[in-house]
Amino acid sequence: TLMAVSFIFLFLAAMIGYFLAGKVTTPMEESMKRKKQFIADASHELRTPLSVLFTSIEAVEMDMDNRLSPFSMQIMNDAKEESFRLKKLVDDLLTLARTDTGEIELKKEVFSLTLITKQVLRSLRFAADEKEIKILFDAADSMDLNADPERIYQLLFILIDNSIKYSSPNSEVRVQFKKVQNTTGCYTQIAVTDDGPGIPFECKEQIFQRFFRVDASRSRDIEGSGLGLSIAQWIVEAHEGEIYVNSELNKGSEFVVLLPNP
Ligand code: ADP
Repeated sequence: TLMAVSFIFLFLAAMIGYFLAGKVTTPMEESMKRKKQFIADASHELRTPLSVLFTSIEAVEMDMDNRLSPFSMQIMNDAKEESFRLKKLVDDLLTLARTDTGEIELKKEVFSLTLITKQVLRSLRFAADEKEIKILFDAADSMDLNADPERIYQLLFILIDNSIKYSSPNSEVRVQFKKVQNTTGCYTQIAVTDDGPGIPFECKEQIFQRFFRVDASRSRDIEGSGLGLSIAQWIVEAHEGEIYVNSELNKGSEFVVLLPNP
């Protein structure tokens, strides 16, 4: 009986320890948690007034139509562009803050990767046409994926948008899918390739860090916050996949995503 009692006692102690380990946090962890929550809440609170600001500027612009002087028109345009940029920055910050607080859950389903890619390309058509960039994508490459379609849309948007943004006019961007098999399993591979400026070898990992931009002078004239690839990396890792870049300076970049097949 003594053996049985000690066993039960030990078992209970282990259970209580296990339970408490998940509940009790150190003051340092608590402060980090509060900080992350603060960023998430602040970003959330900033979203609504920024949307109102953006739509108000648009409404005034429409109402005034041709009655604004060229000078006022320029000011209105600048205000609209800046408020749009700020809104995008806050949206990106909110996404990352929510990943930190574990508020984002994936909603996985089987969907057509081809169809989602076509939608992304449609929404980026204007940006590509403006620079006369040709996007090569074989829509006959029909492929299904079991993942969160909204997040995969966001991932493709970030990668293709970057390729258009950083490439010179009249160049080419290629989007390709294929199934690959390696020692760790079967994957769907997505590759976005461009003939742009490329990524210096020493920055290949850093570009996935928050706010990191390669060479401030190079990026100065190109709009961006340095948050896109951090979000892309989070999306891929949340799907238990992998993302990396192959690149040669002044030749181009190839962003490769590997997503596990169910
Ligand atoms: P953003 O584009 O907003 O600056 P990202 O996190 O998407 O932020 O990218 C980080 C940096 O990586 C960019 O500032 C740019 O310097 C570099 N980069 C990303 N994609 C490309 C690309 N296709 N070609 C060259 N450089 C790139």
